[in-house]
Amino acid sequence: MSASLVTVCYIGATILFILSLGGLSNPETSRRGNYFGMVGMALAVVATVFGPQVTWGGVPWIIIAMTIGGSVGLYAARKVQMTQMPELVALMHSLVGLAACLVGFASYADTSITYTGVEKTIHEVEIYIGILIGAITFSGSLIAFGKLSAKIDGKPLLLPARHWMNLAGLLVVIWVGNIFVNVESGGAGAFALIVMTIIALAFGVHMVMAIGGADMPVVVSMLNSYSGWAAAATGFMLSNDLLIVTGALVGSSGAILSYIMCRAMNRNFISVIAGGFGTGGGTVAAAADGQPAGEVTPISAQETADLLKEAKNVVIVPGYGMAVAQAQHTVYEITKHLREKGVNIRFGIHPVAGRMPGHMNVLLAEAKVPYDIVMEMDEVNDDFPETDVSMVIGANDIVNPAAQEDPNSPIAGMPVLEVWKAKTSIVMKRSMASGYAGVDNPLFYKDNNRMLFGDAKKMLDEVLTALKS
Ligand code: NDP
Repeated sequence: MSASLVTVCYIGATILFILSLGGLSNPETSRRGNYFGMVGMALAVVATVFGPQVTWGGVPWIIIAMTIGGSVGLYAARKVQMTQMPELVALMHSLVGLAACLVGFASYADTSITYTGVEKTIHEVEIYIGILIGAITFSGSLIAFGKLSAKIDGKPLLLPARHWMNLAGLLVVIWVGNIFVNVESGGAGAFALIVMTIIALAFGVHMVMAIGGADMPVVVSMLNSYSGWAAAATGFMLSNDLLIVTGALVGSSGAILSYIMCRAMNRNFISVIAGGFGTGGGTVAAAADGQPAGEVTPISAQETADLLKEAKNVVIVPGYGMAVAQAQHTVYEITKHLREKGVNIRFGIHPVAGRMPGHMNVLLAEAKVPYDIVMEMDEVNDDFPETDVSMVIGANDIVNPAAQEDPNSPIAGMPVLEVWKAKTSIVMKRSMASGYAGVDNPLFYKDNNRMLFGDAKKMLDEVLTALKS
């Protein structure tokens, strides 16, 4: 394939990627967005493999690598549960980081092209920055994977003088970078690269270890952004325009998503990235004695059904527990039944409900819940005082009034769905256990709140049966 045909394919792929991102911004067009992305990626791979940068001798190697990588990816995608998606995404980001590091070292070791003067400096800066971002992304994503899959404790690890340590690391990286660019080549340069890589790996670990559970969604999207910049850096090293454009698209969209999530959680972006900065030690201190702060009033499935039958306005707030229980289909059956009876039923979706951005929207769309009754938090929050029943299904942190009422709470300031303002709120969960942020929830003890204990799917099946009887 000629270089100009490859360029045409790359432009086509770029347009398809942009259309893909546009499609993914709305649930109704997201399927189409995915197809655009898949076609764009197929075009990009074919153009690259058969383009002038790859010799025929290299094609079998690429096919072997693609077969192994593709099989692992296919297996993982088929096996992974929806609730494990963020872990898988974090793991994928780590691979992008690793790839950037490997390409960086390979570019440095490759002596087939000789760079001189300014070109040499530019090439070395590309390598240095590519490996730097790649190593941070790699180790940070692995720690994020460990935290999300509960293999590593979710509590922030706040080392003394941690910001000074980070600053010292940064200064060493700049100093070593200066040495790397100024030495001729060979041993000293390679040594400088290795020193920087070790510092970057340690920084990635340190940065994510210091971030508390409640801020993990932002970290995942931030690592997504880093992986994009790592890919863009790889594109510079390989002189591949498409990789530069695609990396920049991922990098900037990830950064925008991180910013939007920070705003939604009332977190300061810089504080989150700086790792626990601004949250102080409060994150750990919450729910200090672990004792329940009052009495709760349990409710049965039959009583829940009776309340729903009498209600005119109902708001359902789904959370992580609905995803674990795979209760979305029963939720849809209940919704359909109540709508047929003339009940005004809507869904209130918190931006960080579940374990990944858009988690609840995906589940509800899968269960065929109509989009027009799925509201964002801001659209529904003012309506709770006129709501008869707010039904919380496996959610906890996102309906925690402590975010508004307790300035010392680790989630203080995070906007929440004000379900307690409804005439009656019903919380469905299995026990009194806390949610992801590990904070006690005063909602459970409010006078107008009822607890429907049990697995969300099982309890909702019982509610549905009672509704139909
Ligand atoms: P939470 O983690 O706060 O609470 C979920 C609740 O579901 C738990 O308290 C649990 O209680 C209950 N539960 C678990 N399994 C079941 C089941 N089978 N049936 C019924 N209930 C069940 O989830 P939320 O959605 O309220 O909040 C999301 C949290 O996750 C936030 O803190 C957010 O910051 C964080 N997060 C969000 C990400 C995102 O991108 N959306 C990514 C990473 C973290 P019990 O054990 O008693 O049943």
